[in-house]
Amino acid sequence: MEGPLLKLEDLGVRYGSVSALEGLDLEVHSGELVSLLGSNGAGKSTTLRAISRLVGATSGRILWRGANLDHTPAHRTLRLGIGHCPEGRRLLGRQTVARNLELGAYLRRDQEGIRQDLERCYQLFPRLAERRQQLAGALSGGEQQMLAIARSLMGRPTLLMLDEPSLGLAPRLVAEVMAVLADLHQQGQTILLVEQNAQAALEIADRGYVLEAGRRTLEGRASELLGNPALRAAYLGTA
Ligand code: ATP
Repeated sequence: MEGPLLKLEDLGVRYGSVSALEGLDLEVHSGELVSLLGSNGAGKSTTLRAISRLVGATSGRILWRGANLDHTPAHRTLRLGIGHCPEGRRLLGRQTVARNLELGAYLRRDQEGIRQDLERCYQLFPRLAERRQQLAGALSGGEQQMLAIARSLMGRPTLLMLDEPSLGLAPRLVAEVMAVLADLHQQGQTILLVEQNAQAALEIADRGYVLEAGRRTLEGRASELLGNPALRAAYLGTA
């Protein structure tokens, strides 16, 4: 495909009088893993919500495969190939792991493909395979995060957007989740990863963007950002 899969042009979002995002330009190309970094309230979740059309843009454009998403309702975005794994996991706690995964494929009718993807999720996350008949609400925080990612994959998104998958996880589990995302990226999955954990997110990314108070302050190749003194001072605690 020519051009980026996703392109944000001068995107702005306001919540009433609060400006959450201003003048954001961002691109994601097919096969890339792009990390969107920034501290609390920087506008990261708002960016993903705007792409999923859960909030309307106040200015600018969102282009998906070159077409403007302006009039696309939120419920159409997954059909277009945009998968959104929101912060807070939003699992069905009283349903089993297997049922939660099946629900991730609710738009699909290809039973054989669904069955294969279920097996793929169980291979990616062996812990979910062991617990497939347990209730999602009984899983640990890390397991629930893995289930939320796996459920998103069951929708076979062209672009997988993840909102802070490392939130609240112990360092060992953060490493485990990041390793799975690196693996998915290796397999060709396009990923837009929102993270506060800049180090972990840049280590597996091709490129990154940094937001501060709704504006983009830095962008570049992940390896360059990891060595950038301003980013190190602000997000990694080292100059
Ligand atoms: P966090 O990591 O804390 O989720 P974030 O970078 O994802 O931060 P957003 O959640 O996008 O940031 O919030 C950006 C700004 O918009 C913040 O100032 C926030 O208070 C504000 N905001 C977010 N959602 C709403 C809402 N529904 N109504 C009003 N203001 C909101």
